[in-house]
This record gives sequence, C-alpha cells and structure tokens, in this order.
Amino acid sequence: MTGVAIRVRGQVQGVGFRPFVWQLAQEYGLRGRVWNDAEGVGIEAAGERLDAFIAVLSARAPKLARIDAVEVSAFAGDLPQGFEIAVSRGRGAETCVTPDAATCPDCAGEIRSPGRRQGYAFTNCTHCGPRFTILHGLPYDRAQTTMRAFPMCPDCQAEYADPADRRFHAQPVACPTCGPRLWLEVGEQEMPGDPIALAAARLRAGEIVALKGLGGFHLACDAHNPRSLALLRARKRRPAKPFALMGHLATLDRVAVLTVADRRLLGDPAAPIVLVPSRGALPEDVAPGMTSLGVMLPYTPLHHLLLDAFGGVLVMTSGNLSGEPQVVGNAEAREKLARFADAFLMHDRDIARRLDDSVERSQPPMILRRARGRVPGTLPLPQGFEGPPQVLALGGQKKGAICLLKNGQALLGHHLGDLDDVLCAEEFGKAVTDYAALFDHRPDLVAVDAHPGYRATQAGRAMGLPVAEVFHHHAHLAACLAENGWPLDRGKVAGIILDGTGLGPDGTVWGGELLLGDYLGFERRAWLKPAPLPGGDRAAREPWRNALVRLDQAGLSDWADEHFADRPREVLRHAVAKGINSPISSSAGRLFDAFAAVLGVCPGGVSYEGEAAMRLEAMASRSPDMGVGFDFVAAGPEIDPFSMWHDLRKLLVKGTSVSRIAWFFHAGLAFAFARKARGLVENGDALAVALSGGCFQNAVLHNLTVWALGEVPVLTHRVTPANDGGLALGQAVIAAARVGRRAEIL
Ligand code: ZN
Ligand code: ZN
Ligand code: FE
Repeated sequence: MTGVAIRVRGQVQGVGFRPFVWQLAQEYGLRGRVWNDAEGVGIEAAGERLDAFIAVLSARAPKLARIDAVEVSAFAGDLPQGFEIAVSRGRGAETCVTPDAATCPDCAGEIRSPGRRQGYAFTNCTHCGPRFTILHGLPYDRAQTTMRAFPMCPDCQAEYADPADRRFHAQPVACPTCGPRLWLEVGEQEMPGDPIALAAARLRAGEIVALKGLGGFHLACDAHNPRSLALLRARKRRPAKPFALMGHLATLDRVAVLTVADRRLLGDPAAPIVLVPSRGALPEDVAPGMTSLGVMLPYTPLHHLLLDAFGGVLVMTSGNLSGEPQVVGNAEAREKLARFADAFLMHDRDIARRLDDSVERSQPPMILRRARGRVPGTLPLPQGFEGPPQVLALGGQKKGAICLLKNGQALLGHHLGDLDDVLCAEEFGKAVTDYAALFDHRPDLVAVDAHPGYRATQAGRAMGLPVAEVFHHHAHLAACLAENGWPLDRGKVAGIILDGTGLGPDGTVWGGELLLGDYLGFERRAWLKPAPLPGGDRAAREPWRNALVRLDQAGLSDWADEHFADRPREVLRHAVAKGINSPISSSAGRLFDAFAAVLGVCPGGVSYEGEAAMRLEAMASRSPDMGVGFDFVAAGPEIDPFSMWHDLRKLLVKGTSVSRIAWFFHAGLAFAFARKARGLVENGDALAVALSGGCFQNAVLHNLTVWALGEVPVLTHRVTPANDGGLALGQAVIAAARVGRRAEIL
C-alpha cells in the first residue's frame, strides 16, 4: 500500500496538534504515525480516505495552531498497523513554545459545573492556559516549567496520557488535588474562607486588591467606584494615565461600544487589552481626557471566578512601582505592593517570565504593546531573507524589545519597558540571554540603533560581535516593510515616519520624515521644519517648551508670551539663541506636544509619555469634521507649520471648538505628508507608501493619512508596533540585507 509523508510547518507544537492528527486518523481509518521534530509536525500515513484526511487537516486544526505550510510527498516505507503518536525526533527549538492562551470555552464551562475542577482557579487544557510565562527552558515539558513543583495526581496523569482527552500532553494540567493553591492574604496573614469570595467582597467595599496573574501582579479595584479610583491613583502616584479594565463581555458592553471586530479581538486566545470607544458610563478617573477605554476579557480561570463573584468591571492595572517592570514574585509583591494594596490574592505557582498585557486596536488593526499572548510568536520573513545570517537586533530605548532572526523567521520579543529604568534594563539583559537559549540562536552579528546613548546600543557594542548600526527612522521603515512581506528586491517605497525622536545621519534629531528607500538604504525626501528642543529630554516632558519655540519661529512671540506668562520664557529663549542644550529636531511628536500646549493641554508637564498627544487625539476624535484641515507650507522639501499657527490663532479668537481645532491639526499634518508621499509614487520613485513611527498609533492620524493617500498602496503595522517596540525587527532585516548584499559583491 502506498502512503504519503506530510510535513506541517507553523505553530504546531504544544497546541494539541499530534492528538488532533491521531483523532482525525481514527476518524478516517488511517494507519501511520505522527511526531514532533525541529521543523514542526511530521506525518506518515496510508489508507482509503487519505485525500479527505489531507483536505481537512488545516481546516479543523486546533485553535491555537497556526499552519504556515502543509507539504505532501509520496511515502513507501513501513507503517504500523494502527495509528501512533511517535516519540519526538531531535529538538524543535524554533517552533515548540507557544504564547499563553486565554481560558478556552470548555475550561470556562468546567469551572462553573459540578466536577473536580468546579471553582478551580488553575484549570487549563491543551487549548488554553499558561505556556511562555511558566517556562524555564526547553524542551517544553512539565519538568521545565514552574508546574514542576506540582506532581500530577493519578486522575490528571490519566488525562495527560490519553490521546482522546482534551488534556493529552497539556503540560500545566492540574486539579485541586495536585495543582497550585489560591489564598487571600492581608498583612501577610492568610484569611480563612473562600479566597475568591473574600477578594470580591473587598473589591465591592472599595478596597484595592493585588492579584497574581499570568505574567505578573495586577492591582484591581472597582471601576465603578470613584473613591477606589482616586485611592488607587493617589497610592500609585499616577494622576492621569488610563487604567486597563477587565470584565465579562456583557458588562463591557455596557461601558464601551464594541464592534464585531472588537469582540473577535477580545475573544482571541491572546486576550489583549483592546482600545474601544467609551460609552461614558464609568467615572472619568478611569481614563482622564480619553474617549476610549482599554478593556480585556478574563483570561485565566482566576479572573473568570473573580468577575463572577464581583459582578462588574474591574480596573486591572499592572502591579509595579512607576516606571519599573511588573512585580512577579510573592515576596517581591509583599514588599513592593503593600503600600498600594489592601489585600493580596496569591497563589503558589511561580511566574517564570514577566509579561505585560498586550495592547491592541481592531480598527484600524494595530498592536501598541506586544507582550502576553503574542510572544514568542514568530513572523515569516519576506522573500530574500530565507538563509543566514542569524541576527540579534536590540531595539530602542523607551520601548525596549529585541528581535532574533533565524531561518527566514523573525522572533520579536516582548515589550521590556523604558530602558532608562535600571530594572527594565536588567530585564533587557535577561531577555537577550533568555531568547537566545530558547531559540537556540547563535547570532552572527548584532544590529543596534545608531544613537550612542541608548543602553541597547551600548550593550550591543559590548557583545564582541560584528555590529550593524541602523538609523532609527530607516529601522521604522524596514520594520513596516518586513511585516508586510515586502520582498528584499521588490523596490523602493515612500515611508512616512512620524515619531518622537531618533538620531538622524546629519546628527540632528529626526522624527517627522518622508523617506524614500528599502532595506538597503534611504534618502530623506521631505521633513517637518526643525525646531530646537529646549532642555533636551525636558522638552518631551514639558509641552510648553515646544510651543514656545514653534510660536517664536512663526513670528508669534507676543502670543507665546500671553500663553506662557508664568513660565521662564526668556531663560529658554536665551538657551535656544546660544544653542545651549537645545538640539535641533524635526520630531512630529514634539509638534503634537506644542500644539496641545497652545490649546491648554498639559502645558506644564505630562504625567505619562505621550499624554499630550493622546489627549489631543481624543479631542480630535470628538470632531464631526471632514476636509483637509490646516494648511502646512510645503514649497520645498520642508513641511512648515508657519501658517498653521496663524490660522490657529484666528480660530481660537473666533471661538471654534477645541475638538474641531484638534481635528484640523491631525488632518493638516496627514495631508501635508500624504501629498508628498503620493508624489513619489506618482512620479515612479516609489511603489507604495509605508506608515511607521509611534505617531501612527494615533488612530485619527492613521485613518486620515490612509484616506489622504487615496488609491496609492499603503503598508501599515498590524502585528508589530509602529512605535519603537517594532524597531528591532527593522534593525534585524536591514542588517541581514546588508550581509546578503556583501555576499553578492564578493
Ligand atoms: Zn481549556
Ligand atoms: Zn490532579
Ligand atoms: Fe521611533
């Protein structure tokens, strides 16, 4: 009898793929075998209904599987009488760890039904549960996870060993007899009683509860209770940064407007925080100045049970000291979170890996923070990047994330936070060694940002490997190309790169650029008229500084004097005139700050990064306007906001609403850059337009730019962040492209 050999590539290990194949083979009366190996899953099979089996293999695959390819070839070797799950062959270093997945419907039902897992907070199966956050090393089996401390009871063992069971080879399988235990702790004393009921009662009473989740501790409080919100803000010294929320879908429906796409994204196994329009039903203090809310569904049985008992929407903000990474250990939580939390909902399963919640949007689709549920997922690289080298790229400074390139795949690591913070920088170092070990990665070279002051750049230079330096905005452009599968030799695109700051090749600080380029190089074809950043980094924290220099530049010093009468204007003007600590920059982010400050939005200081721009976006999103907005002068390559400031002054005098004005600003900027970019496509220089840089996380700006580009093909970020969290991917592909080019020349 002739059979076939089938090779399945993609995310097919640790997701129940082998038992799925086994069950399918029973159904279709096949004999043969299935196994895991370094390339994914291998199958050898024979039988009457082989074709039908192959036809449904992809369609019916387990929900956590992602199939990149199914390759079928003839097979004439020996096969067993029945169908067996064979031992793994070799080490599957690239494909065998999957991201953590939200509780599946079966497990969610099980914890609410009579049975041994009723009310059990650590229920999981092959289709759901912790993965990456409990993993110490490879291969991915229980002994290498934090579940090692919990030997399986006979019942769990039986499920684990039965290919017909939903828990076959589910490494974290557990039950109340053998698994982790939950308790509520107050003042380091364990409270008697049901910990879930006790925690829910405290939350209803307005208290703040620290709870241990998948990738770290959260601080939870009643999102409907203004006193709890004020208390949490005061204790965390976090006056305005929006809080993430968690609730069952039915309760979220009452506080947010959820589209079909939002519901789909909320229900994704990654269970990200999704930014959605607010109904205004919750106190303003949840997200001051915002028109949207960040909401997520419960993603562990613990969350499900807590929300069942609580009955409303909970604030679920990361448990950390401001700027530091999230707390993961019980002892660390007791030490660091005691002043924030009235009680701790604790358990005894360790967190092996710190991971924040991912933050995403469904419309336009984008990832603002890539972490839990999305890592360690790999991205297939475009044509031309199939072979060596293996590259390690170290990313930027404010939103650290590293990227590993190997065998035509990119692994973009998780969000590490601001590397200015010592603990975040430590996390960065850990991530470098950790991912290398997990993915059996041996870098041939290391790619870094050209900025010599970035910690990541310094770390890269100290590694003793060949170093590829990449300019910040080129990396943004290349990241967008790579994510969109743009082949290595396809040709050039126009990149509208709008962000905070990054070092440009001319030694000035860039941030509002139109680049023409590809993986191998770029030219700067247009830019936002530069202005000084008085005080350097302080300019990013105090928006009025940017407003002052921009208004002075537009000949509106008198107006600036009126606006900022109580600020040290002359000191600043003097510093700018003398060039003291006032680097020149074309940053679009700082223009947002300047504009916001003139409208009275946090002129004196932002309380979190991007606050002024986010508030401005929220204002613009309330505007009913259409049209092209403010005029930016763009006679040569320089896009100059000169006349915009004069128009703004007139509108304010006329009493035009700030939301309309904010909208005019977004539209004006979008159209100014879009017009230039379209020109490059229309004259044949570019094949498409790519949008990248942190400003494109602004949905109003994003949508307006896409609209202004009209029929021109547009590439946007969907699965990697447009902000500096995606920088490492761009650095990696640029470095790889350079090596390829060198090999060609030799
Ligand atoms: Zn499950
Ligand atoms: Zn058990
Ligand atoms: Fe950037």
